[in-house]
Amino acid sequence: MEGLSDLDARLVDCRACPRLVDWREEVARTKRAAFADQEYWGRPVPGFGPHDASLLVIGLAPAAHGANRTGRMFTGDRSGDVLYRALYDVGLASRPTAESADDGLTLHGTRITSPVHCAPPANKPTPDERDTCRPWLVSELKLLAPRLRAVLVLGAFGWQAALPALAAAGWTVPKPRPVFGHGARVTLDGTPGPLELFGCFHVSQRNTFTGRLTPAMLRDVLSTAATAAGLRRTAQ
Ligand code: SF4
Repeated sequence: MEGLSDLDARLVDCRACPRLVDWREEVARTKRAAFADQEYWGRPVPGFGPHDASLLVIGLAPAAHGANRTGRMFTGDRSGDVLYRALYDVGLASRPTAESADDGLTLHGTRITSPVHCAPPANKPTPDERDTCRPWLVSELKLLAPRLRAVLVLGAFGWQAALPALAAAGWTVPKPRPVFGHGARVTLDGTPGPLELFGCFHVSQRNTFTGRLTPAMLRDVLSTAATAAGLRRTAQ
């Protein structure tokens, strides 16, 4: 039976979306001046974190000069700076910063993935690209399912992409579909067992620079999700 390592190994060779393949490889060739001396990853970025994670964080897609450069989710850009700082603050990351795939960072019971695994132009995948990439997320969810207790989705795009993937992986998504919002919380039943689904504004610069998403707001949602996943004790 295929495991997460096998899945990730197949994923990094995926070329199913011509527009995204062109973009990720062009960015890797032309580079940003600040990273001109670095070898860009320029391929699909697999999920990051332990294979027995009980909490899954789902973002949007790799950033052109972040994960598309470093090859690790949310690593090497401002969004990742905010996310990993908060993960560290609530005890889910071994260090508060993420600079490169070999910086030694580890996650505690938490895996980070995205519904689109290649960097899209302007951070905007098309609906077709989102749907084409869905089977990767479904497979990842199925492999995580035996231990998975909570999912935290960053942003409305991830929420819309995650719901059908969760349904395809065996959970029952209510109709009408739950509405995304910061702090949204829904319990999904299903054959893998109950799952707590949380919504959180995306850690994009637009949200964090404007204060729409503050570090305290992110810590609060992460902390609640971690507790639901059995990774933190409830305050006595
Ligand atoms: S976005 Fe997903 S489906 Fe499309 S090429 Fe990348 S890994 Fe493959």
